Amino acid sequence: MSTGYVWQEIYGWHDTGTAAGAAYANPMAGIQPLRHFESAESKKRLHELVAVSGLLDQLERLPVEPATQEQLELVHTPEYVARIRAESQLPKGGDAGDGFTPFGQGGYDIACLAAGGAIAALAAVAEGRVRNAYALVRPIGHHALPDMGMGFCIFANIAIAIRVLQARDRARRVAVVDWDVHHGNGTQAIFSEDPSVLTISIHQDSYFPPDSGHRHERGSGAGEGTALNVPLPPGSGVGAYLHTIEQVVAPALRAFQPDLVVVASGFDANACDPLGRMMLTAAGFRSMTAMLLEVAADVCDGRVAFVHEGGYSEAYVPFCGLAVMEELAGAKTGVEDPYHHLFDGMGYQGLQPHQADAIAAAAALPIPSPG
Ligand code: ZN
Repeated sequence: MSTGYVWQEIYGWHDTGTAAGAAYANPMAGIQPLRHFESAESKKRLHELVAVSGLLDQLERLPVEPATQEQLELVHTPEYVARIRAESQLPKGGDAGDGFTPFGQGGYDIACLAAGGAIAALAAVAEGRVRNAYALVRPIGHHALPDMGMGFCIFANIAIAIRVLQARDRARRVAVVDWDVHHGNGTQAIFSEDPSVLTISIHQDSYFPPDSGHRHERGSGAGEGTALNVPLPPGSGVGAYLHTIEQVVAPALRAFQPDLVVVASGFDANACDPLGRMMLTAAGFRSMTAMLLEVAADVCDGRVAFVHEGGYSEAYVPFCGLAVMEELAGAKTGVEDPYHHLFDGMGYQGLQPHQADAIAAAAALPIPSPG
């Protein structure tokens, strides 16, 4: 069986407009206009590398339908969906809620297609039409809350796709592994009280959203214990991340026994991201993928769907993404990471004692088993 792949050219046309990184440009306040950090380039260049490297010929490109209003409302409030649709019809678009998440005219339709891309990938894996899948979608989704977008996220792509699958009875228990450098607060909040979905977030300690992603956030009510946060110290590298997968993520997946594993695949923990302060490399992402595939083979017949999240290094994200997709497909294109001499040898790439302490504390948290 093959590896499914989602990309729609119009994802590159989601317009985050003029900004000064993430701040509003304001010349009179001394803030010179620039591009928004969340530009299309990191994603377009990843897709183009997938094509130029020849990997695309070995993937099964999945057709995508836009998520319907009914599907969006499995997660989001009707008021929020209506507001985004209305602002999307304005000539200059609108903002999803926090002032950092702008979208241009037609942004609603592109966001529906991004959620639809996640649905396509998860459904293809859950229904056994592909072995695993990578949905390269934009706009991203893991920060979006039921009634508000934030952090460059409009709709909660992964959460919507999980709800769609559960409604179709294609999956009951689902685990989300979020390795984006920021806390997957939206996904966590949406499933906080739901015992059927385990959310695991590995992120840079105390970063974004502010005061979010602490270890003591464990879910609530019937979902108590099904949120797991691994805040890692800034400067964590390949050693810390592989140790986290081995010591925290793999045991949690084995305990929870999901029918499907979804990876919220942000690449902003790489060594040259403008918004992250971690040191992951393409080889590190490849190894994490291999480890997750090995666990998934044991717990859910290898059913893993990756959905793209953040990652703002236009130069490096493509090589990290290609490494992940090569691993998913069991293929080698021969394209080497041109930065590996620089990043693999960075000081402190190995596991450091203070990182081991943080990982051990997360590993001690109990995970509920089925039944
Ligand atoms: Zn991020």
